[in-house]
Amino acid sequence: MAEPELVDVVVVGLGVGGEEVAGRIAEAGLSVVGIERDLVGGECPYWGCIPSKMMIRAANALAEARRVDGLAGTATVQPDWAPVAKRIREEATDTWDDTVAVRRLTDRGARFVRGSGRLDGPGRVRVGDQVFQARQGIVLGTGTRPSVPPIEGLADTPYWTNHQAIEVEQLPESLLVLGGGAIGLELSQVFARFGVRVTVVEALDRVLALEEPEASEVAAAALRADGVEIHTGVRAERVEHDGSRFTLRGAGGAEFTADRLLVVTGRRAHLDELGLDTVGVDATQRYLSVDDRLHVTDGIWAVGDVTGEGAFTHIAMYQAAIVIADVLAHARKSNPGADPSGTASVIGGAMGAASGSAGSGPRADYRALPRVTFTDPEVGAVGLTEQQARERGINVQVGFTKLGGSTRGWIHRVGDEDFIKLIADADKGVLIGATSVGPAGGEVLSALVVAVHAAVPVSQLRQMIYAYPTFHRAIEDALRNLS
Ligand SMILES: Cc1cc2nc3c(=O)[nH]c(=O)nc-3n(C[C@H](O)[C@H](O)[C@H](O)COP(=O)(O)OP(=O)(O)OC[C@H]3O[C@@H](n4cnc5c(N)ncnc54)[C@H](O)[C@@H]3O)c2cc1C
Repeated sequence: MAEPELVDVVVVGLGVGGEEVAGRIAEAGLSVVGIERDLVGGECPYWGCIPSKMMIRAANALAEARRVDGLAGTATVQPDWAPVAKRIREEATDTWDDTVAVRRLTDRGARFVRGSGRLDGPGRVRVGDQVFQARQGIVLGTGTRPSVPPIEGLADTPYWTNHQAIEVEQLPESLLVLGGGAIGLELSQVFARFGVRVTVVEALDRVLALEEPEASEVAAAALRADGVEIHTGVRAERVEHDGSRFTLRGAGGAEFTADRLLVVTGRRAHLDELGLDTVGVDATQRYLSVDDRLHVTDGIWAVGDVTGEGAFTHIAMYQAAIVIADVLAHARKSNPGADPSGTASVIGGAMGAASGSAGSGPRADYRALPRVTFTDPEVGAVGLTEQQARERGINVQVGFTKLGGSTRGWIHRVGDEDFIKLIADADKGVLIGATSVGPAGGEVLSALVVAVHAAVPVSQLRQMIYAYPTFHRAIEDALRNLS
């Protein structure tokens, strides 16, 4: 058996969260080993946020061109997927090659090991034949993978996950999308705008089921206007593939066929692969439970999607900052003479001393968690929905306004169905949630995130000056309507 190699910190999984932790801790002078089995950077740059938003940018350009008619003359639009696929291949992903990302990490001072990391007892991580003993701690940033439902026949078919949908070079004529969440809707609208016949099948009674029902309605209407067929309340029971086409059968005799099937029914952490039992942590949990400094157990932190606190890159980055501060504080505490802030490597501290978090530095607070579905119109949301607030027994006030009723919405002309919805805690006089749906719904959201995060009194928000004629000026109307 290989002799364990002593290092300060081991980071397992180098997605956005893990890469940031490994790089910043290495820059602070600790010896860091980062382990990644696939591509450094993880899902976001290669199969998630960045390529999907490039696709959306292109699809929105087509939609805007189609809006020229009646607004500014006439336009003929000839969609072509080739430049989109090329941009994703060449600009976003280097043809799914992480050479640049590995260099970015090692340039910051971290050591990189390609492979699958697994805990191997307190303070130890095994990757292939190598074993690392971490003096200061281990950070798990292993993310999630697509969750594929156990539908009869599905596993035997060549279905797509987000990976194949992002890598596609030639669009199919028709596409079935199983799952009407954010990723399903974003990709459905993109493909529909490029001429693919898209059918969305969702088991729940509405798409975007985690957001306000009004947002689900607007998003569904927008996609239908782009030609997407949407079937909600349909539980898929069986999938067949005859060599060229998919057939999806649902409860009650529903049947759909298409050239391709994209499964986007959520994400799942794979804790069973991490050797958690060797450190006394329950591997049967859905996600790794963490405290507000992302601490899992003695000497182990977690970061990003694997914590289940929100599957967003901005959550992974937010948590990374907390983990970095806590690990460095811990290193300082266990080595009072050392300076893990610039140059010296921290030598000496034993894992036995790495119990608990260091007790200083920021704590995670998810009250103002923002999320944006980048459909057109965009659906931005922060904090609690009306239903979540009512379920918590909060004395709720709701303020609603349609953007179409604002000057900017009226000028924009395609803003009529969009809205701002505010959720206030009437007893505290502050906003605790908000949704902004519109052409710039994700950008308008920023003001609402500040309001929820800083608990700005509603009375003060009402006295602010809102620039005319912006989309965000509708916030003032929604505040006026709070009741
Ligand atoms: C289509 C799509 C669109 C998205 N769009 C957005 C968006 O617009 N905005 C947004 O905020 N978020 C978006 N997301 C979510 C975002 O991609 C994730 O929240 C983010 O990637 C999470 O980062 P992470 O570091 O937690 O995990 P990941 O990015 O999943 O990285 C985890 C890494 O760990 C590695 N790994 C796992 N186990 C091991 C092991 N045992 N040993 C070694 N390596 C291991 C994996 O190979 C992976 O590279 C999108 C996701 C998808 C799929």
